[in-house]
Amino acid sequence: MNQRAILIPVIVILMSALACNRPQPVSETIKNSNDYLLAATLYPQQAAELRALCYQAYNIAHRNMEAIYDTANDLTTLAIVMDLDETVLDNSAYEAQSILDSLAYPQGWDAWMYAASAKALPGAVDFIKSVVEKGVHVFYITNRREKYREATLKNLQNLDIAPADSNHLLLRGQESSKEMRRLKVLDDYQIVMLFGDNLADFASAFDGAQSSHRRAEVTDSLQDAFGSRFIVFPNAMYGDWLNAITDYNNSLTHQQKLEKYKSALQGFEKKEVFISSSKTIHCSGQCSGSFVKFMNFL
Ligand SMILES: [Mg+2]
Repeated sequence: MNQRAILIPVIVILMSALACNRPQPVSETIKNSNDYLLAATLYPQQAAELRALCYQAYNIAHRNMEAIYDTANDLTTLAIVMDLDETVLDNSAYEAQSILDSLAYPQGWDAWMYAASAKALPGAVDFIKSVVEKGVHVFYITNRREKYREATLKNLQNLDIAPADSNHLLLRGQESSKEMRRLKVLDDYQIVMLFGDNLADFASAFDGAQSSHRRAEVTDSLQDAFGSRFIVFPNAMYGDWLNAITDYNNSLTHQQKLEKYKSALQGFEKKEVFISSSKTIHCSGQCSGSFVKFMNFL
């Protein structure tokens, strides 16, 4: 074997080894990205339908309150309980910036909270103002942390949302359940309506790490309450509905979460496809596999 015949395979092997060690392009690496939230975040920022849903919710609530005003003896003994985030305040700017910066909650959350610059959801300010003017108490029960109290009050005051004082702002303590805080309000007032974007905003029946199936069951059992005692707001960006899919496991990697989300998708079963001379017909379930059955289907 001559020298050239030996050198060529060695050079090929060396080049292959170097190629394997070359860093992968950034676009091929898995980033800590919130890109999967793109449509969910564009919806509150761009969809007029979101505005319409908020107006719808607050219009229903306003009509409910008018009926209460007509029948209650003393309005000052009544209260409504409102969640804040994605119910009164719009945090979609935080979600949007997280996507742009490839960050994931809680990264950047402190900066967003202390900026106190969340906008009000459509209809919220006027509705709350009308309730307060009637003498009904408005309590905000939120799972924002105590360290955000001053910033939250400042945000509400900036939006002219009353009563933005500490007595009406019940932040999260040791537990995320809102039941004890609801009971505290009930010590002095009758709660006539609750507002939220997460089912645990309404009743203890939704507390705990419940599966998606269980959450649906409890919701069905309380069907009559929605639109009367409970007023729900849309939030596709986050919430227990999304946590349930990942089994409330915050330690999952971005890729593991994506796999869980995809495995939760419910598609449809594709049946036989029959091609006639001029068209394609998809059977809906009864026909399979033969032209004779296709004829029967017609
Ligand atoms: Mg909320």
